[in-house]
Amino acid sequence: MIYKELGKTKEKVSAIGLGTWQLGEITESKVDAIRAGLDNGIDFIDTAEIYGTEDLVGEAIKNRKKPFIATKVWPSNFKYDSVIKACESSLKRLGVPQIDLYQLHWPNKSIPIKETMSAMERLVEEGKIRYIGVSNFRPEEVDEANKALKKSEIVSDQVEYSLIVRGAEKKILPYCKKKGLSLIAYSPLGHKKLVSNKHPELTETLKEIGEKYGRSPVQVALNWLISMDNVIAIPKASSKEHVLEDAGAADFVMTKGDIAKLNEVSAKFQSKSLYQMVGPLVSVYLKFKRIF
Ligand code: NAP
Repeated sequence: MIYKELGKTKEKVSAIGLGTWQLGEITESKVDAIRAGLDNGIDFIDTAEIYGTEDLVGEAIKNRKKPFIATKVWPSNFKYDSVIKACESSLKRLGVPQIDLYQLHWPNKSIPIKETMSAMERLVEEGKIRYIGVSNFRPEEVDEANKALKKSEIVSDQVEYSLIVRGAEKKILPYCKKKGLSLIAYSPLGHKKLVSNKHPELTETLKEIGEKYGRSPVQVALNWLISMDNVIAIPKASSKEHVLEDAGAADFVMTKGDIAKLNEVSAKFQSKSLYQMVGPLVSVYLKFKRIF
């Protein structure tokens, strides 16, 4: 496993983390899958109050060395008191005294960012959270959020990024590099599309490159992401087999030539993702739909 510094925190986390959206309720096999990841070098778990998986994460980490826990507050809870309450509920479900990375899930223009960030800083002061992150924020929104903080700094932006959704490369990836933030790549397997042969030419290239290193196409796709200095990938996997395969994406180094080949084959996916284009509207829409 490769470990990378989170933002400028001097704290290292595994370059491959565990995503937990749509993992569903607690079952023995899902607990086993998460624990298999933890036993094989993964020490970063991503969840969110809206996913309904914080209790599953809590169960999986019970009586074990605590991994780095990242969770998120939903935009409808961005008012001062609601942030505090949401965090306390997350802590209970997770069964931990402290959240390592607390992220604003989507921007919410209807609540002043100063109010939200003031609550986030209180949580830091009280030791309930360690670091503040954001998700689905554009560079100008990260700047605004940072300005609203008095003592802390935003350490990461979690955005959609994969070989088939490369819109992050236009603005947010260079921004994160320049400002020293980690980019946490969500849906790194294209929310399944990269494992389902939806793009045969890309699948073929992943296979070809994988054969050179004795790795699977999934491992090559994830390795492409983490080959970038400040990028961490958080694939979601329901089984032990998938988790172990994903963890194995972080122990080989591709040549520059192979990375260039992947960039070339996936060049047509450089346009912005739908989420990135309609981000601000999505945040309002999702308030009602509660799908993430
Ligand atoms: P993803 O990780 O790109 O893809 C998940 C799919 O890939 C699942 O169907 C999974 O199957 C499959 N998979 C994983 N490892 C595999 C393997 N080794 N072989 C074959 N199939 C494999 O999609 P995602 O869930 O959208 O994104 C990952 C995480 O990012 C989420 O869980 C969540 O934590 C985060 N996320 C954040 C946001 C946000 O707004 N911040 C939005 C979306 C996602 P199985 O389940 O059958 O293993």
